[in-house]
Amino acid sequence: MSDQNPVFIPGPTNIPDRLMRAMQVQTRDHRAPDFVKTFAPVLRDLKAIFGTTDGTVITFPASGTGGWEAAVCNTLSAGDTVLVARYGMFSHRWIELCERHGLDVQVIDCAWGAGAPVDDFRAALAADSGHEIKAVLVTHNETATGVTSDIAGVRAAMDAADHPAMLFVDCVSSLASIPFHMDNWGVDIAVSGSQKGFMLATGMAILGVSPKALAAMDQATLPRSFFDFRDMTAANASGGFPYTPPLQLIYGLRESLDMLFEEGLDNVYARHARLAEGVRRAVQAWGLQLVAQSPGLYSDTVSAVYVPQGFDSNVLTDHAFNAYGVSFGIGLGQMNCRVFRIGHLGSLTDVMLLSGLATLEMAMADLNYPVTLGSGVAAAQDYYRMTAGAAVRSA
Ligand code: PLP
Repeated sequence: MSDQNPVFIPGPTNIPDRLMRAMQVQTRDHRAPDFVKTFAPVLRDLKAIFGTTDGTVITFPASGTGGWEAAVCNTLSAGDTVLVARYGMFSHRWIELCERHGLDVQVIDCAWGAGAPVDDFRAALAADSGHEIKAVLVTHNETATGVTSDIAGVRAAMDAADHPAMLFVDCVSSLASIPFHMDNWGVDIAVSGSQKGFMLATGMAILGVSPKALAAMDQATLPRSFFDFRDMTAANASGGFPYTPPLQLIYGLRESLDMLFEEGLDNVYARHARLAEGVRRAVQAWGLQLVAQSPGLYSDTVSAVYVPQGFDSNVLTDHAFNAYGVSFGIGLGQMNCRVFRIGHLGSLTDVMLLSGLATLEMAMADLNYPVTLGSGVAAAQDYYRMTAGAAVRSA
């Protein structure tokens, strides 16, 4: 039953049939000229998604976590200082990864539900007159809390402090869904993956790397082998891979890029913004609270929602799955049992999303939540009806 329903987890996302078919190819020789013809344009076209002309796109057969590791181990040395804020499970995990690599991690702890603390970054960077901080690490879209941070603001803080640190941004749950401007924001490494905005199966870490980050490799001494940028860029220069590539995913990525370009990136972003706003109106109609502290932080790819006092969000997500065959995101880390998450990114329409909202209402009603059946769906329907023209025009 459940495999016929869309998932409403914030990644991996629903895979459109078109991408399923694109990935269903028989083994081909990755050393044949045919692969070169496919892969080189994929790398070139990915640059438009990152918003970079100066940067180099590097992919690895890995998930997003591998992308974090690649960013760190190619550019830094043990003992180097990095500045990071923790405001959710994913910023936390990136911090842990840095610690395991022996970096000196200067952590700014924030409330979960807050975004990147631009003023605190500015102060920390201004205080670092010896320029010990080699990189500032920011999670653009904190998937655990449904918060999108202001990367342009972080860049402005770095510039205001006149600090030469590199800027590394996790855009795993924002790229190809929420506007991302690698060059304009002065991002040195942007880390993403195949399984969210690209609507594909998990298995490719996708990174945008600036010339400054590539140059940092000359001094960086953290051990690297599988994730070595140099091996990858050298092989990519002739259209190849230093080891066996995830061929089916690369064919999928070709098709995914075609789909994104056919829709138009601005329309992709507008669709996500519209879907998200409908969800937020439903949450408001239910009388529930978002984890994101203020509207400027609301994520257009995932909404994290507190359950009322006395309820357990894991019971709700389990019940939605067991009774109706529909998956929602659970609360992670300190949000566990307190929060459920509605993923609204990737291959989704308003009509699909309404089915998710209706399912949540049924599950909440079954569990005696103080929520009126139909209230959230009606609020979302009103919003989607009001804005349908724009969506239809851009479809
Ligand atoms: N960063 C963010 C913002 C994420 O949402 C995730 C996964 O959901 C990751 C990093 C880790 O990526 P992966 O699970 O693909 O290793």
